[in-house]
Formats: sequence, C-alpha cells, structure tokens
Amino acid sequence: MTTTRDKTVSPGDRPILAAKGPRRTARIVRWAVLAAVLAMVTALGILHQRAGAGRPVGVDALCPFGGLETLWSLISSGTLVRRIALSSVLLLGATVAVALVFRRAFCGRICPLGFLQELSGRLGRRIFGRRLSVPASLDKPARLLKYVVLAASLGLAWTTADLAIRPYDPWVAYQHLTSPELVAEFGVGLAVLVVSLVGSLLYDRFFCKYACPMGAFLALISRFSIFKVRRNAETCIDCKACDRACPMNVNVSAATTVSNPECIDCGECVAACPVADTLAISSGTRSLTPVTASVFSVGLFATLIAGATAAGAFEWSQPTLKQEMEREAPASGTVAPGSFDVSLIKGSTTISEVVEAAGVPAEAFTAVYGVPASEQDRPLKELKDVYGCYPGDVRAFVELYLTDPAAAAVYVPGSGEIEGH
Ligand code: SF4
Ligand code: SF4
Repeated sequence: MTTTRDKTVSPGDRPILAAKGPRRTARIVRWAVLAAVLAMVTALGILHQRAGAGRPVGVDALCPFGGLETLWSLISSGTLVRRIALSSVLLLGATVAVALVFRRAFCGRICPLGFLQELSGRLGRRIFGRRLSVPASLDKPARLLKYVVLAASLGLAWTTADLAIRPYDPWVAYQHLTSPELVAEFGVGLAVLVVSLVGSLLYDRFFCKYACPMGAFLALISRFSIFKVRRNAETCIDCKACDRACPMNVNVSAATTVSNPECIDCGECVAACPVADTLAISSGTRSLTPVTASVFSVGLFATLIAGATAAGAFEWSQPTLKQEMEREAPASGTVAPGSFDVSLIKGSTTISEVVEAAGVPAEAFTAVYGVPASEQDRPLKELKDVYGCYPGDVRAFVELYLTDPAAAAVYVPGSGEIEGH
C-alpha cells in the first residue's frame, strides 16, 4: 500500500491510466494549428513587404491588439488609427469571443508569436535537458509587467491616435524580417524578439509571461470564461506531471479549478495527466478533451473570421490609395481634386498609387526624384535609399504639389521628413 498526499491507493485499487495515443494526438493537433497559422501569417507578411498593388494587408491590420489600440478612436470619432484596418477590430472581437468561452485559447492555440516561443522552449529542453523556472519571488512581480505594458500602450494609442509601441513590438519586427526597414525602424522590436526567443529557451513563453499586452488583456477577460481546467481531487495521485507540463508554470496539482489568469488553455496539463478523467477542460457540467477544446476554440475563431470575410467586412488585401480615398467620399465615389490625404502615404505605398489617387503626374516623380516609370510600382521603402523618396518626404512633396504645382516643380528632395515611414 502506498500513500499519496491525501489519499491511499492499494494495489487492487490502482488508478485507471490514460491512454498515451490521445495525449499525443492532442499535442499534434494543437501544434499543427499553431504551425499553420504561423506559416500563413509569415507568408502574408512577406507578400505584403514584397508584392505591389493588391498585396495582402500588413501586420497592423492582422493583429487583434491593433483592434484594441484603435478602439477608443473608433468609439469616440468613428475613425480608425492610421495603419489599422477594420479587420483588426474584427480579430479582436473573435479573440474576445474565444476568451469568454475558452480563456486564453488564443494564446495557447492560435497566436504565432506564442508558438515561436514554444518552439524555442522545445529547443531549449533539448539543449539543456530540462525546463527552468524563475524564482517565485521574482516571477510573481515580473508577471505584472505585462499589465503595465498594456496600460502604457493603450494609454499612448488612445491619447495620441498613433501606434506608439509599434517600433518596440517583436511581432511587428518579425513581420518585417524581409524588409529593408528592419534594423532602422524596428531594431528595438527585433531586439525584444531575440530576447523573447532566447529567454524562451530557458523559461517557457518568456514574452507571454512577462511582457505581452494582448496576453494581459486576455488574462483579465479569462476570469469570466465558461471552460476552465478542472481537477478531480478524488482520483488525482499527486504525481505533479501536470505542473511539469505547464508552460506557464501554473500549479495545477494544487487547484480543483484552475482560475489562474496565466493559464493559456493549452491543455498540456490535461494531456500529461496519467490518470484517466482526472483533469479536463470543463464548464462544470460538460467536459472537453484537449483535442475537442482545440477544435471548438479554433473553430469558433475561424468561423467568426470566415463569416466576417464572407460579409465583406474582413479585408485580406491592402486597398489602393484610391480605394481608401473613395471610401472617404462614398456619396460621389470620386475624390475631389486637391483633397488627397497625404497621411495615407506609407512605406508600402507605390508611386503609381500616389499618381492614381492624388493626381500628381508620374513625370513629376521622375523629374524630382529621378524615379523612372519602370520603378514606380515598387513600394517607397524599397526605393527610398536609391532615389531619396522617403515616405515623409513624398508626403511633403505631394502636399506642395496639390497646393502649388509650380513650387513643387523645383522641390528639393529631402526638404520633408526623411526619417520614419
Ligand atoms: S494550466 Fe494547463 S491548460 Fe493552463 S497553461 Fe498550464 S498546461 Fe496549459
Ligand atoms: S497529472 Fe496532476 S492532476 Fe493528474 S494525477 Fe498527476 S498531479 Fe493529479
């Protein structure tokens, strides 16, 4: 007879062991979804950087946190913060809907940055042979940092109507890995990405735990979630396999209901538990296996986005400048001469788009910047170092052209802003 923490297990009363096959399947399903999302958004990011007109939308339009950053602007003035698209708001809605049912399943089952860290963690365990944990006295206060990042980034975005944390965002840096602007404009974000991945070699999901503002936001919402990991204390043999499996270092074996906001609903603890029907993702009356939780949570997210796409609200392609302008003038469908909003010109904009939307002749760009017609379908960020057509400078030039074409004819490149994008 052996004694566990609070119960006795006799040889004739052995626990029913959970089959290993479903455990493996749970991991395969979760990682397959995460890998597919990572591959898809990576491809979209590269195409956005490299393709011309009709390219996919950029990282800012495909991140639910962008929806949160623009929320105040949307509510107070009905407008979106520059760079943000309605798609981000819809992604935010889908993410919140998932969180209300399945806690931070977005973090554990969908987020590509979380998956990159998990890959790093897996590599770290191969290198070091074990998973480390930060001492509790340091870990607990450090986890509050992400709430500070959340408050600061929303405070700045909501008061300045700008994406203030964009240059420091590791995901934005990742999506610009193939961009010529990477080091100059996203150097800090790249450093944060490197620190996050190196940190995850040693401590699972390093960025998620300590710095991710989206994780902090979802942690607040997950308190109201329907499904949570629940432990049957009667059948638990106190082996602590669940604690060892948890990438967020939640003390599962000490809880009957895991209400810790750090839980990302990955189901790793449930998959690791050797005793059948001891851990489950449960609403109290209904229990799900990690696989069905994956299917339902990712399925809910995908269905909402597919519905928004079918309704024409979720855009996957970047609208041209002309399309953006025409949306601002829906009654006539045309842009009044001289009413072009130069703030729409970004690093990803092509000169051809400016020509079409603003009415500035293509020859003017050849005369002022020396950009030949054959190069005018390439994004400004790829031309700026060769021809000096920095987006900020082009904005200044176009603004001058629209008010005084004669003065614009003798415009000296570099008179406008040549930093930023
Ligand atoms: S408690 Fe379980 S479901 Fe939650 S993060 Fe830890 S392993 Fe994943
Ligand atoms: S894995 Fe956790 S819940 Fe399952 S038997 Fe071991 S201690 Fe109990």
